[in-house]
Amino acid sequence: MIVDLHVHTNHSSFCSQLSPGELLVRAKMIGLDAVAVTEHSVYSGAHITCEMGLAEGFRVFKGVEVYTTGGDMLVFGTEVEVCPDMEFEELLQAVREVGGVIVAAHPTRGYWGHHRKYKGFPPREVLERVDAIETLNGGCSYQENVQATRLATELGLPQVGGSDAHSVSQVGRCVTVFPRPIQGDDELARFIREGECVAAYLDGILTLPDTVSGE
Ligand SMILES: [Zn+2]
Ligand SMILES: [Zn+2]
Repeated sequence: MIVDLHVHTNHSSFCSQLSPGELLVRAKMIGLDAVAVTEHSVYSGAHITCEMGLAEGFRVFKGVEVYTTGGDMLVFGTEVEVCPDMEFEELLQAVREVGGVIVAAHPTRGYWGHHRKYKGFPPREVLERVDAIETLNGGCSYQENVQATRLATELGLPQVGGSDAHSVSQVGRCVTVFPRPIQGDDELARFIREGECVAAYLDGILTLPDTVSGE
């Protein structure tokens, strides 16, 4: 199952130009099996895209991206109460309480937080405590993704990929491949936690036909 695990829609990520409807059309067109909508600090975009996906028979997982003091974090599996710029420890505890997974997003990009508030890399002691690392992020350079892959390997953590798309053409640039279909958000969290997944560049595993390679 090929899933883009990191997408922002314009429903509730005001930095995004991608509407939920455009996301679904594009995801199906390029051959994804599912996407996860991960807006900044809110779930409403994930909910609405999930409902639209249900009506069309296309799976949408509900996640969130949280700006924390220890790095931008993706949360999957179950909903937690979040606020922008929260303490990493506070988020970690909230996620652990409800049995979700916490994934360090783009840890080698060189900055994180709202308006790039923090510079550098998230602290090592934070990265040692997450469930997985987003090693391939569509908004990062190839070198940054190599560095993130090395980091996850050193820490022995599961690796996921997502596009971090904010526009149609960015959807699916990086993906996570799971060995079998996943039915719901709980199961998604379990696969990530157990490392039953690999991160990939979509064009590394598939060659898009000419008919779908443009915008
Ligand atoms: Zn981010
Ligand atoms: Zn993002």
